[in-house]
Amino acid sequence: MAGAALIDFADVVEEGLKVRATATLRLDDGVEHSTTFVVHPVPGDEVAPPPPTHRAALLALLPVALRLGVSVHLNGPLDDVTLSGVREWQHALARWVPDRFSAVTITAEDVIEDLPPPRFRGGVTSFSGGLDSAFAMLRPGSDGRERENDLAAGLMIHGFDIPLAQQESFDLARARAEAMVASAGAHLRVVESDLFRLLDEADLRFGEEVHGIWLASMLACVEIDYDHTVIPSSYPYHRPTIPWGSSPTTDNLLGSRHRPLRHDGAGYDKFDKTSIVAPVDAVQKHIRVCWEGVDKHRNCGHCWKCMVTQVAFWLNDVPELPAFDDPCTVEDLRRVAVDGYRGALAEHFIEVATDKDRPDIIDALREALEFGRAEERLARQTSDLADGAAFAWLQLFARLVREQNFEAARYLFHPHCRSFGTLAVETTDRDQLVDQQWIPTWTTTRGFSVDPGSVHVESGGDLRILTARWSSLGASDGTDFARHGRCTFVLREVGETLRAVHSHFSLDPN
Ligand SMILES: [Zn+2]
Repeated sequence: MAGAALIDFADVVEEGLKVRATATLRLDDGVEHSTTFVVHPVPGDEVAPPPPTHRAALLALLPVALRLGVSVHLNGPLDDVTLSGVREWQHALARWVPDRFSAVTITAEDVIEDLPPPRFRGGVTSFSGGLDSAFAMLRPGSDGRERENDLAAGLMIHGFDIPLAQQESFDLARARAEAMVASAGAHLRVVESDLFRLLDEADLRFGEEVHGIWLASMLACVEIDYDHTVIPSSYPYHRPTIPWGSSPTTDNLLGSRHRPLRHDGAGYDKFDKTSIVAPVDAVQKHIRVCWEGVDKHRNCGHCWKCMVTQVAFWLNDVPELPAFDDPCTVEDLRRVAVDGYRGALAEHFIEVATDKDRPDIIDALREALEFGRAEERLARQTSDLADGAAFAWLQLFARLVREQNFEAARYLFHPHCRSFGTLAVETTDRDQLVDQQWIPTWTTTRGFSVDPGSVHVESGGDLRILTARWSSLGASDGTDFARHGRCTFVLREVGETLRAVHSHFSLDPN
């Protein structure tokens, strides 16, 4: 064992009707990692809610200890079910990403025997306002019950998909979410969290590694008021994705003795889920699926998630969705590359489109699938290049540009990378690169691809220098125009991965 860490929960203060608390992981060499939670009250309450528990602190900070490989002691009370659950949970992460995480010894100061009964009959689900959470909230019950999940509340988190600094955007998104949960007779709770800071500070990956346990931590901040908690599924049982931070295998280990946690909806894919929620007026008006557009409270309409959602609604006889103010067209579908889970989903769509007699959608999806297969072939063809890893890095980057997947593309870059761009003359860190170059260009162009014949890789020590020619389509006054240019990346090996420490993009001379 490399060392030990202590998790402490302190500085609980009431701020009006909210309660703020800070959890800190202290290493024995004096280094600290901390995170702050701000819990909002039940709507209409005149008093602040109960403060978050030590359970919430452990779920938030445990991944940091596992990343460092240090044993961890919770300096406060915990129930036995949580303790045995996280001891098992960590083995999944350590097996999935063995070069980054090790299982450690986890202990707690005291054992909680009892909790007061919940204030509300019914549970609370994490609720972003997207398809998975709308489904968890509205899913009809078996045995004549109205709803499968008996939910009293949805929990919206400020600080995950919408940065804490974007208060106005969050307020707009919250209003949309409130309308959706109200249609199910539930109320909306809010927790603010700065956990995203730890992604860089502790080198953690949100989607692949921590998002399930962090959702469980956020739910733990309010769970005392409800009789159980729910995390809506991302992938269905027949398409398990590893590593992925939220799964039926792992999330179900994160409940407590008195507040069980259920991973909901893995028996359904995105299309099945859409079929359930499509008729609901509040969903048509307010669903919010986009994590990639610039305005976080609205749907950009053109990223993969936006497009797939719109197509699913079209195929459920909802041709116009008020929630999308800039809708996509069938033509836009042809320009994405789909494979893997997306490919399986596209096949499901094609089946339904065949029944619904929509040859336009079938054609477009077949083209997107063909594009995906071409990409796979390209990757295979080039895997025998002197440096397959650098080429794979470039393929992945090109794909993430096309999909406008800023969050995933960030992982390919070092936090302190320096870059020259077509728009930003010079950026000196990754945040600047994303804000000043990626967002303005990726959202206004499409079809970014690299000419495989032009790729050249030079290796030395832990560095790779990658050069290539690229192309994409821009639009001006409604007309497409071709963009062509050159790019250079300097990649550095960081553990088992390659991260760009420099990138330079320029357009071809006229
Ligand atoms: Zn979008």
